Amino acid sequence: MGELSDTIQTICKDEGAEYIGFADIALLRTEVIRQGGERLSPYPVAVVFGFVLQHSLVDLLHDGTRGEKNVYYHHAYQLINTRIDLLTSRVADIIQKSGSRVFPVPASQRFDNEKISAIFSHKLAARQAGFGWIGKSCMLITPEHGPRVRWGSVLTDAPLPAISAPMKEKCGKCRACIDICPVQAYTGEPFREGEPREVRFNAQLCDKYFDDLKIRNEESVCGLCMYICPYGRKKRGKPISSKNHEIQR
Ligand code: SF4
Ligand code: SF4
Repeated sequence: MGELSDTIQTICKDEGAEYIGFADIALLRTEVIRQGGERLSPYPVAVVFGFVLQHSLVDLLHDGTRGEKNVYYHHAYQLINTRIDLLTSRVADIIQKSGSRVFPVPASQRFDNEKISAIFSHKLAARQAGFGWIGKSCMLITPEHGPRVRWGSVLTDAPLPAISAPMKEKCGKCRACIDICPVQAYTGEPFREGEPREVRFNAQLCDKYFDDLKIRNEESVCGLCMYICPYGRKKRGKPISSKNHEIQR
């Protein structure tokens, strides 16, 4: 079975994923079923992989023109999601051919309209695999690239070497994502195991903001909470404007 995990790692690397891991999600069963339903109960493992976004594109979210925001949307959202979906499908094929059950999770697709959520949280799997922590922005924050990573996952019962290694939260006193949000969608509460997302994030406010942009005939793109996170900006010498935005070590 080492062979299967090696094959998956090789394919993901070849496709450009910088993060590849096997998350033990059996411990999160209640949460997984609460979000995606009983159909997800047979899968104790998530193969999770992440693609790092190009910084020049993420920076457009802050000061880009309408046209430039379209460039972001095309390359850093639509295209990356397609790459994730293709890799998800490929990994799922390989696992199924090895004789195990699989459930390929879409890169980004709404499953519950009321809660505004997907069928499965890639970032929960990425946290379990030890790649980062859930920030006050509800995104997965990696120490290397902050939230500038898009994730994909494949659920399975294959006997892969899954781990449970959540990283300690390092947002500290930072409030950058909370302060920059134009509709105050974040409450400022840190992630706590077992608490619903609603404690930290009002997804309806964010969703409505996107709808309002469309109504005003503006680009339906925001992502300022992703742009501002100091963990995503630190390596490129971008000034960090406030004391509260210091990186916690
Ligand atoms: S995408 Fe924009 S509106 Fe939505 S939470 Fe982030 S900063 Fe707020
Ligand atoms: S911007 Fe600050 S508070 Fe928000 S996720 Fe990043 S480190 Fe955490």
